[in-house]
Amino acid sequence: MPMFVDVAFPISSYKVFSYRVPGAFSKSIAVGSRVKAPLGKRTAQGIVVCIRKKTEFKGRIKEISGLVDDKPILNEALWRLITWVSEYYLVPLGKAATAVLPTRLSTEYSPHSNKTVMLVESPDMTLVGKRATAQKEVLRFLSQKKIPILISELNSVLKNPYQVCKKLHELGLVVLGEKSILPSTTGFLHEPIHKDIKFNEDQKDVINKLTSSINAENFSPYLLHGVTGSGKTEIYIEAARKVLKKGKSAIILLPEISLTPQIAGRFKAAFGDTVTLWHSKLGQSERAWIWKQICAGDFKVVVGARSAVFMPLKNIGLIVMDEEQESSFKQESPDPRYHSREVALMRGKIDKSVVLLSSATPSLDSYYNQVKGKIDLLHLPKRFGGAKYPLVHVVDMNEESEEAGNPRYIFSSLLQEKIQERLDNNEQVILLQNRRGHSPVVRCMDCGYLEVCPHCAVTLTYHKRGNTLQCHQCGFVQSPPPSQCQNCSGDRIHLSGIGTQRVEDLVENTFPSAVIKRLDIDSAKSARVISTTLTKFSKGEIDILLGTQMIAKGLDFENATLVGIINADAGLYLPDFRAGERVFQLIYQASGRAGRRQKQGEVVIQTYDKDNPVIHAASKLDLKKYYNVLLNERKSLNYPPFSWIAKVEFAGKIKQNVESVSQTVSTSLPDPFKGLEILGPSYCYRERIRDNWRMQIVFKSNKDKDVSGTRLHTFLRKGLKIDDLKQTQKGVRITIDINPVSLL
Ligand code: ADP
Ligand code: ZN
Repeated sequence: MPMFVDVAFPISSYKVFSYRVPGAFSKSIAVGSRVKAPLGKRTAQGIVVCIRKKTEFKGRIKEISGLVDDKPILNEALWRLITWVSEYYLVPLGKAATAVLPTRLSTEYSPHSNKTVMLVESPDMTLVGKRATAQKEVLRFLSQKKIPILISELNSVLKNPYQVCKKLHELGLVVLGEKSILPSTTGFLHEPIHKDIKFNEDQKDVINKLTSSINAENFSPYLLHGVTGSGKTEIYIEAARKVLKKGKSAIILLPEISLTPQIAGRFKAAFGDTVTLWHSKLGQSERAWIWKQICAGDFKVVVGARSAVFMPLKNIGLIVMDEEQESSFKQESPDPRYHSREVALMRGKIDKSVVLLSSATPSLDSYYNQVKGKIDLLHLPKRFGGAKYPLVHVVDMNEESEEAGNPRYIFSSLLQEKIQERLDNNEQVILLQNRRGHSPVVRCMDCGYLEVCPHCAVTLTYHKRGNTLQCHQCGFVQSPPPSQCQNCSGDRIHLSGIGTQRVEDLVENTFPSAVIKRLDIDSAKSARVISTTLTKFSKGEIDILLGTQMIAKGLDFENATLVGIINADAGLYLPDFRAGERVFQLIYQASGRAGRRQKQGEVVIQTYDKDNPVIHAASKLDLKKYYNVLLNERKSLNYPPFSWIAKVEFAGKIKQNVESVSQTVSTSLPDPFKGLEILGPSYCYRERIRDNWRMQIVFKSNKDKDVSGTRLHTFLRKGLKIDDLKQTQKGVRITIDINPVSLL
């Protein structure tokens, strides 16, 4: 019987192509198989999305020319998820699939392995020669161990242990073996962290609810709102344990896995080799290897960043999203611009599993969904073990800087005093400054000219290390910085604004005997640097840890009792509807780092805008109040969670073309339905990035008229003629962003 397949290719067209399947492949081909097939003049690789007995296609039908994998590299449920991603985010199916699958899935990769040795049961010691002291030494060492150990461990006992083990093996006294070094552990430090856990009443309550949902095997979304230090991570571990017991699997999503080696270590301790990590620092072949192991059922728990939501695990019982408000869960490029939270909820629906969104500072969207009863609330209102909330001081920097000279412009006298106090007590300090570099603004004092990136509409930041000006958007570097103004040739160039390097210099000068370490993307190029720094800090080898938002979250340091927020206002005035929410969450999270145990912690918040509702509520650690203010504001402006939004972005090198293409698209849109607002086309806030001019059209559809967002969705699909949409027109790229996290 003839057999036909529909194949989707990773190209920007939305079309699926039909092929005949040659007899040789007909047995092994399945939905999810990757195949090679002629496409135009070339042969391309695509994914089988449908198998048919007949084809509707009228023209001359071509044949599949090759099969890439012998088995499908996807399961049915995951395929449904990818299909959903393609429909929901309005991207071609092939493109959605390419984004999910590791590119090198077909290359062979096997991890390095190390040799192991173990004593046999009841060894016959008479076989050991009288003078064979080395052999005896090894046997004595092994008799204390019950499991295979790495032969390299014997290096501490004798030289060249491998030869001795080989000899013992010939005598039939030991068993040799191999243990593969899992790729996910390379370049990563996460020693298992073992703990004795006895759950308190609040925690038990949460676990009971989760357990009954796990057992019910229904889609059950939850918001776990737990203050920092309330034991959320312990809850994830316990819930995962319940899921594994039922023979199911679990995904744990973390915003930035390289920043959270401690959490990975706790999972490693609990689940050993059934857990693997998945993060951006893995190489392509490592990804392929892990992917295949998961398909083979070797791993049951994946701890990973954003894209781990697409792991090919079967039978998922639990998906956890830690710090669910983090914008790093949103993929900005390439397409599809998906949000892991949205994908996780859909995956939970498909797999009928528990989805646990978790945070001390939930996103306003999840918070509102819980208020509306769309997801259930689990609450951990208290820190574990009665650790106290920190004492918060707000310093008005307007008064500070008037009163005194330069250093106070960065450090209030209160913050200086407090740091000194903690250092004298042998306690540790965390300083947050959410801007890297030395000075974010380079200004001519004569004409006011600002140094801007030649490729982007943003100012250049002065970096003292390396003596350069850098663009934080595109990475442009100018070295050395100009000594004269480019505009008026004046030589009074002023470095203003505060970056982490500047704070670092000042801290070093003010507290010369303290050990200080800076953590931002400039100082932490690799995951190892980050985890080494964090380990050192937790061991007390660093007194002051200074950094960007990198250091604000998820970390658990017993002896860090003071948190200083150098400039709480950073980011507050960006023209984006989520700006306030983000600043609040950052301050709140950072404050949560202070005094996690018995010692009372303190937080010093420095601001120029003391009465700003964001700063005010954050300093009172009053989340509920602030979220209510926010909800009112969003409602009156018709922003999420009261509306659905979408953004169509136009980017290209030639300004006129960007304007004309966006205009053409805009005028070809049908009339909006009632409740839909269309804004633009207008220039984005950052109107030029990497030499590309940027314009956008923003769509806002009120939820009163469009409860589930389907009206907006249909409008876009039809209005943009998605099925025929050319994504590049006159050199202008058109990108669609459903539920964008920002409009900058
Ligand atoms: P969160 O993830 O909410 O910030 P953690 O799970 O990290 O909180 O808990 C804070 C600290 O308290 C951790 O060191 C954790 O191991 C400990 N802890 C939490 N709950 C318990 C418990 N029931 N028994 C023992 N230690 C606990
Ligand atoms: Zn630039």
